[in-house]
Amino acid sequence: MLNLIIFGAPGSGKGTQSEELISKYGFDHVSTGDLLRAEMKAESELGKTAKQYIDNGQLVPDSLIIDMIEKVLEEKKPQKGLILDGFPRTVAQAEALGELLAKHDTRVHAVIDLQVPEEELIDRLLKRGLESGRSDDNLETIQKRLHVYHAQTAPIAEYYASKGTHNAILGTGSIEDISHRISEVIDKL
Ligand code: AMP
Repeated sequence: MLNLIIFGAPGSGKGTQSEELISKYGFDHVSTGDLLRAEMKAESELGKTAKQYIDNGQLVPDSLIIDMIEKVLEEKKPQKGLILDGFPRTVAQAEALGELLAKHDTRVHAVIDLQVPEEELIDRLLKRGLESGRSDDNLETIQKRLHVYHAQTAPIAEYYASKGTHNAILGTGSIEDISHRISEVIDKL
């Protein structure tokens, strides 16, 4: 059973590459962004709180995210592997994840860090905004999200590098090429 983190800036292809991994390896998948959007749609208390942060390009507070992921980890019983997509996004979340997994006698096996130049990220997100209608895929919010990524999320790469689990992957080119690069890492685990 492998625990994988698919990591990268907004627009780096985490969702797309998660889908590739699900169909290739039969892994389970958890996206905190998808969970939060479902809560927003259901207009739950969590959804209403999250919306104020998401529409403003900010991170939802760690305590809410960690509670949410704790419940998911208790419920999910992945057979082959679990892909964490969009989580952790702060070093505090990464530390909490390590503790939660340790309770289940497991750990993070690999972090797949999709690296894409900033201009391409912005182009991809603007295009997605036109197609998906996501409320946070507009230029102003995209710029805020990229700033938050550099300030709060990118330091996680160092955190996992110090544990020897960080893998930088070139996130440009065709979906298949990127997926192939990721498989080279996974097949060695
Ligand atoms: P995503 O779909 O992963 O791009 O997430 C969309 C938005 O949801 C982010 O910009 C954050 O506002 C919020 N979000 C998703 N995952 C997290 C997380 N792990 N911690 C804090 N906020 C999150």
